[in-house]
Amino acid sequence: MRPSIGIVVSLDKERKSYVGGRAYVDAIQAAGGLPVLLAAIDDETMVSQFFTQLDGVLLPGGPDVDPVHFGEEPMYNYTAIDPERDYVELLLARLALQNNIPILGICRGIQALNVAGGGDIYQDLTAQKKGALIHAQKAPRWYPTHWINIQPETMLFKILGESRLRVNSYHHQAVRSVAPDFRVSALASDGVVEAIEHPSLRFALGVQWHPEQMWKKYPLFKLLFTSFVNEASNS
Ligand code: MN
Repeated sequence: MRPSIGIVVSLDKERKSYVGGRAYVDAIQAAGGLPVLLAAIDDETMVSQFFTQLDGVLLPGGPDVDPVHFGEEPMYNYTAIDPERDYVELLLARLALQNNIPILGICRGIQALNVAGGGDIYQDLTAQKKGALIHAQKAPRWYPTHWINIQPETMLFKILGESRLRVNSYHHQAVRSVAPDFRVSALASDGVVEAIEHPSLRFALGVQWHPEQMWKKYPLFKLLFTSFVNEASNS
């Protein structure tokens, strides 16, 4: 049996359809998991029931997390927020952390994971962090544009086996205060947090780049998905 990996999909209000990134589904499928999509419906009972059927949770990329969830007013231009996705993903993330169920956060997902764990994020890197690199690349999505330094003796280092890598980057926000109990597992050269992990849970990892766009060209990044799915298969 493939482990069930839950991925929340967003309501496109104009098209009256639910939408989610195919690249995440493809990556989970290729890694041996069963991608299970959940409509973002903000109902605690339904989300909790869904969670009991999961072996792992993938938090994908998407719009900005509403700053109310980390105690701030909106200060800068941001992408359209998605209240239902915020609700469902933050709840799923907290359930995963409480129950030690594997969770992988990507881009918005590392930010949601950090907020769910009690940390916060920069609402806008350009406005709030002096000397920040260009993290919103205009190159093709699979193409790496900046370096990251992976901290030794982290789970991320054990998975990838490299201390320095080039990654793609399309985010205007980033982790600021790392959630209690989490640690930084990779930094960009400007000090921006590019990965976090929980050292005492089975698998709670967030990455700020987009491995789902890179693994077909750079197979090393598939290891993130296979490690996640393999751990989920022990759930
Ligand atoms: Mn970046």
